[in-house]
Amino acid sequence: MAGHFLLSPAARDFPLAKIEKMSEAEVHSFFTEIRWGKDGTQVCPLCGTSDKHYWNAKRKQWRCKSVGCGHSFSVTSATKFADHKLPLRTILKAIMIYVTNVKGISASALGRQLGVAYMTAFTLLHKLRESIMDHADQEPLEGLVHIDGAHVSGRIRKPRVKSKATKTQARDKVPPDAFPYHPNRRIVMVLRSVDPTGKTGAIRSIVRIVPSESREWAEPLAKEFVKRGATIMTDEHPAYGLYMARYTHATVNHSVEFSTDDGVNNNQAESFFSRMRRLVIGQVHRVTPKYMLDYVTEIGWREDNRRVSTTLMVKDVLGKTQKSRSRWWRGYWQGDHRDDEIMFVPKAGKPVSQ
Ligand SMILES: [Zn+2]
Repeated sequence: MAGHFLLSPAARDFPLAKIEKMSEAEVHSFFTEIRWGKDGTQVCPLCGTSDKHYWNAKRKQWRCKSVGCGHSFSVTSATKFADHKLPLRTILKAIMIYVTNVKGISASALGRQLGVAYMTAFTLLHKLRESIMDHADQEPLEGLVHIDGAHVSGRIRKPRVKSKATKTQARDKVPPDAFPYHPNRRIVMVLRSVDPTGKTGAIRSIVRIVPSESREWAEPLAKEFVKRGATIMTDEHPAYGLYMARYTHATVNHSVEFSTDDGVNNNQAESFFSRMRRLVIGQVHRVTPKYMLDYVTEIGWREDNRRVSTTLMVKDVLGKTQKSRSRWWRGYWQGDHRDDEIMFVPKAGKPVSQ
């Protein structure tokens, strides 16, 4: 049997030492080539003209050749790192550290490794998540699809003191008849297309946050993100009971087995949740509903790219940061925050079950 992918040469083809050895010009070219290709042209972010624009080596900026424009721009203009103060090399290192920490990385750990403030590392990481979220492939899945849901956050804290509580201690206690979940509880639903031969596992994931694991949400999710005629595998949860008309639906009873004799399982959904728990428990410790989709989309990306070389993962994430500006992380520390959490909103129309 072949060794684990992370032990292969492809997994260590872009180490920090390589980034350290790159010249300033090489780092700059790395960014320009991913953004605009290797032919030496740039696209002016203001007017959209593609040309070999005037280069100002001292300012590391181009001036647009288009008549009436003359806009000056750099390789990070109109990207997630517009107006950044970090050297490009530091951004490149951050992306490399981010993609190689397969269970995610906390802002404090990244800050210590890069020698940057916690606030800087925090927004940097969130810009990477935002990029992955903004440019994830959301085309409906086909073929074999595993679907499952799991709750995140919102476990009520256990009483601090078990008995003989004083008045103050009793205040921390959960009443015995209390609903066992906090209002922050959310369900993460994952839909993953899977290699039907079983050789390479999951191919692509779509992740959404919903209020409950129920038909009300499971049906419109499948309708929007799984093509008609696909084979869906789930556990026996009643949320998935009405997939029959539109899809071939097979279930596995998890109280008995993880895979039936016929090979029905939803192990790829389980694999996603396993990595998600490692991120939540082991790295970031607390995920609030407001930014939950950011973290779980990151996990979907990590799962789908688990066998991709480090170089290609770095290029993919850097390329995604270059496609658009940041909506949520430019003025974060000045108090400019996203308004609300991002929940799945079903498209209007007839429900799947009529
Ligand atoms: Zn221009």
